[in-house]
Amino acid sequence: MIRQESEKLFSQSQKCIPGGVNSPVRSFRGMKISPPFIKSANGCHIVDEDNNEYIDYVLSWGPMILGHGDQDVKNAIQSQLDSGTSFGAPTRLELQLANEIISVYDSMDMIRMVSSGTEATMSAIRLARGYTGKEKIIKFNGCYHGHGDCLLVEAGSGALTHGEPNSPGVLPDIVKHTLVAEYNDIATVEALFNSNKGNIAAIIIEPIPGNMGLLLPKDDFLKKLRQLCDQNASVLIFDEVMSGYRASFDGAEKLFGVEPDLITLGKVIGGGLPVGAYGGKEKIMKQISPLGPVYQAGTLSGNPLAMTAGLTTLQKIKKLQPYADLSNSVQEMSKEIKKANQKFGKNYQFNHIGSMFTLFFNESEVYKKSHVDNCDFDLFAQYFAFTMERGIYIAPSQYEAGFVSVCHTSQDLEKTAKSYYDFLQQL
Ligand SMILES: *Cc1c(COP(=O)(O)O)cnc(C)c1O
Repeated sequence: MIRQESEKLFSQSQKCIPGGVNSPVRSFRGMKISPPFIKSANGCHIVDEDNNEYIDYVLSWGPMILGHGDQDVKNAIQSQLDSGTSFGAPTRLELQLANEIISVYDSMDMIRMVSSGTEATMSAIRLARGYTGKEKIIKFNGCYHGHGDCLLVEAGSGALTHGEPNSPGVLPDIVKHTLVAEYNDIATVEALFNSNKGNIAAIIIEPIPGNMGLLLPKDDFLKKLRQLCDQNASVLIFDEVMSGYRASFDGAEKLFGVEPDLITLGKVIGGGLPVGAYGGKEKIMKQISPLGPVYQAGTLSGNPLAMTAGLTTLQKIKKLQPYADLSNSVQEMSKEIKKANQKFGKNYQFNHIGSMFTLFFNESEVYKKSHVDNCDFDLFAQYFAFTMERGIYIAPSQYEAGFVSVCHTSQDLEKTAKSYYDFLQQL
């Protein structure tokens, strides 16, 4: 596959943008090839500057559940474009999107829109501290909650891929209040509650982590977190920026029967435009400015273009309820991978839920961060390059999740499964 034009643009970009990219994982570091520069996308396909076409399993890191260029979303954006792109004043669309989301989550009475997932989690942490008057937060090794200072500790995803679990520039005085536990290991959480009695403001967790590859909660792990938060008057925050409207329509609280106090959202709820949100119980949300003393604001928060793209996306998936089909597609992939594994005597793991998945180059079950760390990273990089060459675009890191959209067809999935088969065959 020729990628001359992309290579030229990448080398030019590296002179004026750090690493040539505006988000580190896009640089493909640690992979054997340089990133294609994308010029257009339609449905589940993206096209690069050399006119190579790929089946897209990154989908802008999750948001494009309806595929690229959905006609209804495009129409909504176009029509808003004619009415104005930003007012810095309240609009009907914000009310509509707020109601659309609140109606889905039993635990949510109120919601505040921001412009990114990072802002959503930063604000939720500030709110939890303001509400409880406590200092410490517990996060989990390998969970990513955006790049806010207090959350940039053992932070998964890009931070893991680039080998910088803790960033310089984040003051020790700030992160000393961030305690790190192990996902799916309740004893590590209990230990932190015991050694910080009365001072845990919140637990923040990706209930379904997608930023160390896709992991699933085991043995009532989330229920036990709920109990610990109740016993210690701490706030439980589900960061569903990635898993929201991806693992299922109505979130981890329904999937696992655990209601959090606050939920953070992003990605899908912006329909491909920059959006984040945090919402939860009224008694907590009322602490936010202007009702309460906890300050949080945003010039472009509730931006009408983003609101209409998100609202149209959510209304459409509410009507379509594509989750059974999406999950079947991923299950089909899982079956094909198992078949190929059997044929070539491998047992590489394929975790999946709803429209999300990760193929781990690890031959035993993967449900903890340490299991992900034990993957064969060199083999992943080989697979990544192999599959790219065949027109299949997956995230360039073992620490990421993949996604399907309503536009992926059985032919797309077959082609993907075939490339895995061919990969194992040539090893
Ligand atoms: C993507 C992501 C974020 C950060 O969202 P941005 O919009 O990139 O700031 C936060 N939490 C989770 C779980 C995410 O997947």
